[in-house]
Amino acid sequence: MSLNIMLLGLPGVGKGTQAAKIVEMYNLPHISTGDMFRAAMANETDLGMQAKSYMDAGNLVPDEVTNGIVAERLAEEDTKPGFILDGFPRNLEQAKALEDMLSKEGRSLDAVLYFTADMQVLVDRMMARGRADDTPEVIQNRLDVNGKLTEPIAEFYDEKGLLNKIDGSRELDVVFADVKKLLDSLKND
Ligand code: ADP
Repeated sequence: MSLNIMLLGLPGVGKGTQAAKIVEMYNLPHISTGDMFRAAMANETDLGMQAKSYMDAGNLVPDEVTNGIVAERLAEEDTKPGFILDGFPRNLEQAKALEDMLSKEGRSLDAVLYFTADMQVLVDRMMARGRADDTPEVIQNRLDVNGKLTEPIAEFYDEKGLLNKIDGSRELDVVFADVKKLLDSLKND
């Protein structure tokens, strides 16, 4: 029995916060492409150098690079009981690449948690967070880039019967109560 889940939603919707709570309660590895790129940048690795210009502008890192790091991470043993994907896939090409990676090993996603909130909520939260790429221009570009891409991904997983919508504009613990309900129902399937 495994718990393979993916968190979908625009920047600022609270995916990272919910991921941290899921990690704590379900003890699953958190695979955040954004975190992996930031760590690579901090360590000044080749990957970090490649990712930096894209991230600084709020654009997507090229798919070959991103798919490659996720494939490597998913090959690690600790992901076998399950994992939380956060920030990947971010377009349909990545979604298809993920299917290939998983199906090769007889694995598949169990659920997609799609967090939603109004644009103003997202902008306010990111401004409050103050990460290096949380300047007004870059925030706007990340929302523009991801806004167009997220809905087709949601449809892709909805057609597979995997999509679960969660209102991410509520208080974090209230959101997590919904998350927990869903994950517990999957575990008991
Ligand atoms: P946010 O959700 O606020 O955009 P993330 O930490 O998820 O924050 O991502 C930060 C940046 O990392 C993105 O703007 C992008 O440049 C890069 N990135 C993260 N995930 C991906 C991905 N799946 N594909 C391409 N680039 C990505």
